[in-house]
Amino acid sequence: MAAVNKLVLYPMDADFQLQVWDSLQQYLLSEQFIGDPLPPRKRAYRGGERLLQSIIFMGCSPSLVFEPPEDGSLDFCHVVFSNLETPLMFRHHSQGLIPRCPHCGHRVDRGMERIQSYLQGDTAPFQCESCSQTVSAAQLRWRHRGALARVFIDIYSVYPQEAVPTEQFLTQLKQYSGVEWSYCYTDQ
Ligand SMILES: [Zn+2]
Repeated sequence: MAAVNKLVLYPMDADFQLQVWDSLQQYLLSEQFIGDPLPPRKRAYRGGERLLQSIIFMGCSPSLVFEPPEDGSLDFCHVVFSNLETPLMFRHHSQGLIPRCPHCGHRVDRGMERIQSYLQGDTAPFQCESCSQTVSAAQLRWRHRGALARVFIDIYSVYPQEAVPTEQFLTQLKQYSGVEWSYCYTDQ
């Protein structure tokens, strides 16, 4: 099946874990961010009536599809919550992935390799070649093209930079979970 572009919301604390989605899902349902579930898929929901007040699409009115296509394609606007058994993961876009130093903003060599080693347990920090400061792979900045986390909320059928979550919505997620949230784009 063709790759679907997604906007992914994630907690910025990579160690943050949820035991259950229930209360956050109830909240997002009450806010009409999500609508009815989409069985038989697990943790998949229709976009709610007010989703477009939390996720703002740029430019002129995009032709958003909210109904599941008859051919079974997943390329329509809906929301999927991650499996909470998921270990720490690095999710990213296949295009435009440039790791940058959190201190000086310069491009870091072998960023993807460093993240892979980090996920395999090699969490030793390294020295930035530009500013010489100590950097952990978990601190690398990916400009919304990569995310290191255990918990994700995917909004399907969103291309990079096509839409962004509002500050207010990210604040609501923080109030509900106790941690800061950010977003990235992926096609995987
Ligand atoms: Zn640096």
